[in-house]
Amino acid sequence: MFEYAPAPESVRPDIKEHYGLFIDGEFVDGQDVFKSVNPATEEVLFTVAEAGEADVARAVAAARRAQETVWGPMSGTERGKYLFRIARLLQERAREFAVAESLDNGKPIKETRDFDVPTAAQHFFYHAGWADKLSYAGLGADPKPLGVVGQVIPWNFPLLMLAWKIAPALACGNTVVLKPAETTPLTALMFAELCQEADLPAGVVNILPGAGAAGAAVVNSPVDKVAFTGSTAVGRAIAKAVAGSKKKVTLELGGKAANIVFDDAPIDQAVEGIVNGIFFNQGHVCCAGSRLLVQESVADDVLARLKERVSTLRVGDPLDKNTDIGAINSAEQLARITALTEAGRGEGADVWQPACDLPENGFWFRPTVFTGVQQSMRIAQEEIFGPVLSVLTFRTPDEAIAKANNTPYGLSAGVWTEKGSKILWAAERLRAGVVWANTFNQFDAASPFGGLKESGYGREGGRQGLEAYLDV
Ligand code: NAD
Repeated sequence: MFEYAPAPESVRPDIKEHYGLFIDGEFVDGQDVFKSVNPATEEVLFTVAEAGEADVARAVAAARRAQETVWGPMSGTERGKYLFRIARLLQERAREFAVAESLDNGKPIKETRDFDVPTAAQHFFYHAGWADKLSYAGLGADPKPLGVVGQVIPWNFPLLMLAWKIAPALACGNTVVLKPAETTPLTALMFAELCQEADLPAGVVNILPGAGAAGAAVVNSPVDKVAFTGSTAVGRAIAKAVAGSKKKVTLELGGKAANIVFDDAPIDQAVEGIVNGIFFNQGHVCCAGSRLLVQESVADDVLARLKERVSTLRVGDPLDKNTDIGAINSAEQLARITALTEAGRGEGADVWQPACDLPENGFWFRPTVFTGVQQSMRIAQEEIFGPVLSVLTFRTPDEAIAKANNTPYGLSAGVWTEKGSKILWAAERLRAGVVWANTFNQFDAASPFGGLKESGYGREGGRQGLEAYLDV
């Protein structure tokens, strides 16, 4: 008799009380131990070993050995088989990973279930397909791996950022030492268990939890390349740290994207795109549409419909499948969002928040819309990385482009209009690595993603993403 699989929110993943560092195929002790907290309850989920410099050195040595003796010499076809196996295991354990990610990060289960985990699996499937075709990728006849790659990732999409980093590196024949963010190590450690299950040769993937110092130790270790996703401030420090060395580096940094709504846009569709653009993942998204630029003639209509829609969003338990906005990832991030929101009030912008009850424990922030925002205000310039939208208006398309480009960042932008010619006109003028038209936050492993200006350099995904992991 056919049985339905259990709903993900009813699955309890097998979370251990304690995790070690994953070095050379085994879980081992580190220099210290820290706690990982459920941001929706403030309860400790598990403890985890913290990597010190000696641990990083051991991991890099193991990765070097694995790269030179096993993974590098292996045929692309064989490497592809391992990556396919990892992708399939991720699919098989998708429900467990989704619940674990929601517990550790605070994001709603409908997002981990429908976005984070399937997109991570897709990334492994996509790169598994490349492993035996690198000579045909237009990157030269016989492109070579770089060697050992040090990778440092943030907490906003823990498993997905891991997939973006590890899948292309492995497909190209490199081995990796990856440091997950200190507040969200869980799915990276579950991924380490999955590597064991897939019989991945020891040392090919090493996972080293820890804080910024562990990340710095990875960056300063004798790796051949550093791949970083995180804040622009840390990205700058990493660029300085590797300057003058032979290490290659790619940086995926912050953003302050404009979501531009022209007067001929399909308004209801645009409102959905604005909501998705800023409230997806509590706004903890580098490419979030955190600035709405709306044409003056339709601004009142758009804002009225937007407020109506935002009033229907449900904030609360990340494991409830009806939740739209989960917990803020940490007390520190909540403090940052609160401080920037206060700055917005202080600079004279008008703040609007829907009425909604917030849970007593945990870290929460109401969806927030600022109107009357001037370009010079901090809430129009700085990345808030939370569920806070800054609304500006414009009269002409030229003014829209000028305002959209008026930040230090250049990661993404959105354009809403019925006119195809206006989309192309805007896309040519927007200084952003990604421009979405009549949609927002769409990702595909086949499509290169990355920024301009202070949003970093290098691309992840697509054929272009492979270049970052090959000596072409
Ligand atoms: P963060 O820069 O504080 O931390 C990112 C990672 O770097 C963490 O693992 C952290 O422990 C580590 N780290 C901290 N100091 C370090 C140092 N000196 N050397 C090496 N590693 C160090 O950023 P965050 O708060 O975790 O993440 C949010 C930021 O990430 C936002 O600015 C966001 O826009 C950005 N982000 C960018 C992308 C992208 O693709 N462009 C994607 C997701 C997030």
